[in-house]
Amino acid sequence: MKNILFTGAGGYIGSHTAFTFLSNLDSNITVIDNLSSGFIENIEFLKYKFKDRISFIKLDLSNENEMKDLFKNNIFDAVVHFAASLIVEESTIKPLLYYLNNTKNTLALINLCIEFGVNKFIFSSTAAVYGEPKKIPVSEGTQLMPINPYGNSKMMSEIILKDTSKAYKNFNYVALRYFNVAGALSQNEFRNTKYGLGQRSKNATHLIKIACECATNKREVMSIFGDDYNTKDGTCIRDYIHIDDLALAHLSSYEFLQNNKQSEVFNVGYNNGYSVKEIINKVKEISNIDFKVLNASRRSGDPANLVADNSKILSLTSWKPKYNDINYIIKSAYDWEINLGK
Ligand code: UDP
Repeated sequence: MKNILFTGAGGYIGSHTAFTFLSNLDSNITVIDNLSSGFIENIEFLKYKFKDRISFIKLDLSNENEMKDLFKNNIFDAVVHFAASLIVEESTIKPLLYYLNNTKNTLALINLCIEFGVNKFIFSSTAAVYGEPKKIPVSEGTQLMPINPYGNSKMMSEIILKDTSKAYKNFNYVALRYFNVAGALSQNEFRNTKYGLGQRSKNATHLIKIACECATNKREVMSIFGDDYNTKDGTCIRDYIHIDDLALAHLSSYEFLQNNKQSEVFNVGYNNGYSVKEIINKVKEISNIDFKVLNASRRSGDPANLVADNSKILSLTSWKPKYNDINYIIKSAYDWEINLGK
């Protein structure tokens, strides 16, 4: 049976994608994660559901010797690379951490793929590579001009992938530029058990997660970071995609790499923009809880408007989003938050 290496599948997107791969493919998965921001609970859930089709090694990508042994001891059909630092504001304070964790570790991983002949690579990139795009929705051909170290660290990794695939003809990659992801696993056979998958967070920074924490009484108050942007209501606009659809985009990318010996970059979003105020109001409406919201100053590194032109992934891959509905996404995140308990 084929074995696929997942880095960082203890995290939110990686764990849901592992679930999607194992549910749809006849393959095994090896997960490596240093558990710095990932959760052992996610790995335990995957093991409970898929038994020995998934194996887990606690390993940091910067550990060169152990990484090399991993590639020596396994034959991987593909690498799906999630492990990264991903908080925009933190990246403005600790840029070197982001260049080490995101760019340097990705370079080392690609290097191992070349050395050991692993020729399919799926990379978690981000809409942050666009910076402040002039034209919305933004398409993949737009010039990349990140405005924070997080976006820079991912853009550099994309450049490394591009140059590598040009030089090594057998090596192909898909870079997925994620827009804003939210929600929890829709397959709800695990609701109200200790198992399940959704967004866990040691210190949440994401808008829908934070608003759901307010609606479930885990937080007393939240802030709107800036209401003086040049947008319809002054707050930032984002394209929110359901986690299951984002996970499916990885599966479609894997199939794309199997069927086409070519590399591509795809936006993954719905081409729908919602403002921070609209999202907060929807969380209040769906939960029927009127929590307290303050106005605060802008958060460093935030672009005003990011909405995906998703026509490329829709036309070149088999990806068919199932949950393009902001009410469903918020309900999914809210139900999960209730289920998580205190
Ligand atoms: N945001 C906010 N209050 C919060 C969290 C986020 O106003 O408590 C805003 C943030 O400034 C941005 C948008 O919500 O404009 C989405 O932020 P998030 O961190 O969810 O995702 P990002 O777009 O930074 O990846």
